[in-house]
Amino acid sequence: MAARAGEVAQPNGSTALVEPIYQSTVYAYPDLEALEASMSGAQPSAFYYRNGTPNGATLERALAMLEGTEAALVAASGMAAISSAFLGVLKTGDHVITDSRVYGVTYALLAEEFPRLGIAVSFVDACNLEEVEAAFRPETRLLHVESLTNPLMTVPDVPALARLAHARGALLSVDNTFASPAVFRPAQHGADLITHSVSKYLSGHSNAMGGVVCGRADLVAAARTRLLRYGGSMSAFDAWMTLQGLKTLGLRMRAHSGNAQAVADVLVNHPRVRAVYHPGLSDHPQFHLAMDLYPDGFGGMLSADIDDAPAFVRSLAGRIPLAPSLADVITTLSWPWGTSHRALPEPERRRLGITPNLLRLSIGIEDIGDLLGDLEFALDGGQT
Ligand code: PLP
Repeated sequence: MAARAGEVAQPNGSTALVEPIYQSTVYAYPDLEALEASMSGAQPSAFYYRNGTPNGATLERALAMLEGTEAALVAASGMAAISSAFLGVLKTGDHVITDSRVYGVTYALLAEEFPRLGIAVSFVDACNLEEVEAAFRPETRLLHVESLTNPLMTVPDVPALARLAHARGALLSVDNTFASPAVFRPAQHGADLITHSVSKYLSGHSNAMGGVVCGRADLVAAARTRLLRYGGSMSAFDAWMTLQGLKTLGLRMRAHSGNAQAVADVLVNHPRVRAVYHPGLSDHPQFHLAMDLYPDGFGGMLSADIDDAPAFVRSLAGRIPLAPSLADVITTLSWPWGTSHRALPEPERRRLGITPNLLRLSIGIEDIGDLLGDLEFALDGGQT
């Protein structure tokens, strides 16, 4: 269904299977009545690019359908989506609880920007339900977590967190970037707001930038008001590119998940690998919960602590790129110690398990034999 969201009927009766890119920044109206109907919302229509493009509206329908929510709002980046979602529901005096493992810029937004607005934030281990429960205050309005965390792939219990939040009159927001709705749909488990960095699995080819907020219509409308005022709208081209990527989301995620599980199973048995972090391994701390919540796999992300990581990365040169993003159809590597977690004090990084030898792998959809061949070549010293 979502794959056909972009079809556009033509005046001559045929249908464009691929929606045209609407690059117009403004739209003309035949008369004042038509303009009034558009502005009042009686007959909503595209009128000015910052307020949303037809390509963005198509993408919003597709993403709401995929996440199973009433509405969706697309944005210029994941951070534009997250900040709009938060600003839509928070006001001065409110309190937020969040996992201390959230994406670094989300952490900085909550730790450094929101206190300037008079919004207090507590950081907790979201996998420890007692710690989460103890952090609630009468003014707690929002609990925010990521469905699979970066880079150690912990799995917070979203249904239990939703129950905790709702019992205290708070909302649960879930960043579902690492999972995608093809493997996990937080709304089905009680989440009120779902966010994504669209440049990851939803678009899937490292060629489109954007974000999305999905949720109840009133919560999405509140986020939209903030997004439009702060000016974080998504470009028509990025929305269009994402719609093309979305057509293969299900197929890609099955391949990412299968390949990542196969890589995890091989890495865990290699003498050079000290630890592998993947929810499908039986020694993962949330293995049973993960198997319950993710019956279709976990996507392509995993991390591994590998002896002499610098030499391993050098051996992979020309085979697996070192690139600090994720979710491409090709496998990429990143280095949390020096990139995403660079700002954390060294003892804190080590306490979390983020060592200089930890590498995050975003496993692609390549032929698994070729991929394992490349990894084993590098693990065995890279000699030909
Ligand atoms: N959430 C997660 C889990 C991410 O990994 C990222 C970026 O890597 C973001 C949010 C922010 O998204 P963007 O870079 O599109 O602003």
